[in-house]
Amino acid sequence: MDIAEFIRCGTLAHGHACPPLVLGLRAGFVAMERLGVGRALDRELFAFVELGSDHWAQGFADGVQFSTGCTFGKDLIVRLPQGKASVRLIDQARGRAIRVVPRPETIARLEQSEWFRAGATSGRFASDCAPLAGAVTDQIVAATDDDLFAVSAVFPLRIADPRPSFESVLCESCGESVLAPYAHDVDGRRLCIACAERHHGVPAPPGPVRRIH
Ligand SMILES: [Zn+2]
Ligand SMILES: [Zn+2]
Repeated sequence: MDIAEFIRCGTLAHGHACPPLVLGLRAGFVAMERLGVGRALDRELFAFVELGSDHWAQGFADGVQFSTGCTFGKDLIVRLPQGKASVRLIDQARGRAIRVVPRPETIARLEQSEWFRAGATSGRFASDCAPLAGAVTDQIVAATDDDLFAVSAVFPLRIADPRPSFESVLCESCGESVLAPYAHDVDGRRLCIACAERHHGVPAPPGPVRRIH
């Protein structure tokens, strides 16, 4: 698939034409190329996006998901609230990573676009600005990797990949099916986390948590 196909599919999934989405696609491709890896068909990669929840460039995270295959659904992407629209991509097999950050000039180019000004004026970035997305999107597509991004040296990093659990049990209070590692024995009854908390007023420990090495 070429970038146009990724933009087409990414826009369909994201919901509107979005320059930060295209920047995220490019950032993901640069990171993979410099690491010498392909997309995560399974669990080969892991991504941290350095992006605030109130950031105008939310689409960047979706671009990273679609280019790298590090999707929310595979639990391969985490948002670090750092307000930068940058990404750290980990090659899990080799335990190494790279950081790709847009140059200040790249962010300035976006912020000087008609698309950005319309959004900043209305206070929202959504479908209303989408008709203005084309010009700055074309600029992002045409720019070289070096024009767009500063790329770090490769550095060591790996994130634990938990063994999948294939066992479900029934919560003895609500009767819902729950994955076994998330059920807790409370006074001799096997309860889901929500029921353990509701009936006993104590926060139940969470399920398995992933660790970074
Ligand atoms: Zn968007
Ligand atoms: Zn329950």
